[in-house]
Amino acid sequence: MPWAADAPVVLLAGGVGGARLAHGLHFHLGERLTVVVNSADDLERHGLAVWPDHDTVMYTLAGLDDRERGWGLRDETWNVMEQLQRLGQDAWFALGDRDIATHLVRTELLRDGTRPTEAARRLQAALGISARILPMTDDLVRTRVRTDDGWLDFQTYFVRLHQEPAVLEVAFEGAPAASATWEVTTAVRSAAAVLVAPSNPIVSVGPILAVPGIQEALAETRRRGTPVVAMSGIVGGRALRGPADRMLASLGHEASALGVARLYAPWVDVFVIDQVDAALAPQIEALGLRVVVTDTIMSDDAARARIAGEMLAAAGVAGS
Ligand code: GDP
Ligand code: CA
Repeated sequence: MPWAADAPVVLLAGGVGGARLAHGLHFHLGERLTVVVNSADDLERHGLAVWPDHDTVMYTLAGLDDRERGWGLRDETWNVMEQLQRLGQDAWFALGDRDIATHLVRTELLRDGTRPTEAARRLQAALGISARILPMTDDLVRTRVRTDDGWLDFQTYFVRLHQEPAVLEVAFEGAPAASATWEVTTAVRSAAAVLVAPSNPIVSVGPILAVPGIQEALAETRRRGTPVVAMSGIVGGRALRGPADRMLASLGHEASALGVARLYAPWVDVFVIDQVDAALAPQIEALGLRVVVTDTIMSDDAARARIAGEMLAAAGVAGS
């Protein structure tokens, strides 16, 4: 084997879909798991640095997530939001009271000059997480989407407008001038396997690939025989939540596991699709991908662990 037995397993992830698979992988891998998380959805609200995808993964791995809501902390309260509204603030982006503590600590670390990657690691350590969650870059990258009303910030589209406008174009502002951190490129280059969460291929996985240095590291690690294994977040032509299906369609792609496979074929080796999409397997194989068909719905802990185990097996990695 070209890699050490304790070589990291790297997961490329967005928020909810990323967190569910990260959680399953964490059962098998513990500190061997390195999650590279999309940071192009990050925003500043009320003077605070808010990192939705990072925090969804972090709270999930810490066992503090609210499973019903799908984001934020369990047993959350909303006093700060109420008071902000009383003070005349437009509180369209909901931040829970306990969640705000995360943003306060992070904002202070960043203000003091701490690198985003280092600030992320400190918060993860404080919550007792053994895996590493690495922002895709320390540089500022922001997703913007073009709609009939022109270009919008990602969270204006996603949260404020409830993903209602059709997305006609997507841009990752700042990406061309950004660079991958050495933590991310080293993890990818030394990985036993690189996995891709069933996250939104356009606005969760897309920004990670847009950071200069990451595709190069992926290509290098594949040349050395490390497999890249991705899971479809489109099941039966639909996203389980969020706008991935509509976004694929409005951008001219097929809203199906096959549509995602077409986007991933140039840089992925194995594609995991749901059993309801089994009929698409021959067409996906024709793209040069190996296909694994299974139940991909990560409803509870047992399903998460099982699906993660199947992805690791497809990547030739022995779990513990
Ligand atoms: P966000 O950043 O919070 O929007 O979340 P992601 O981009 O990480 O994930 C959103 C995608 O994950 C959606 O397209 C969902 O269909 C997909 N997804 C979420 N949970 C599951 C699951 O249990 N199984 C599969 N196959 N896909 C999932
Ligand atoms: Ca996100």
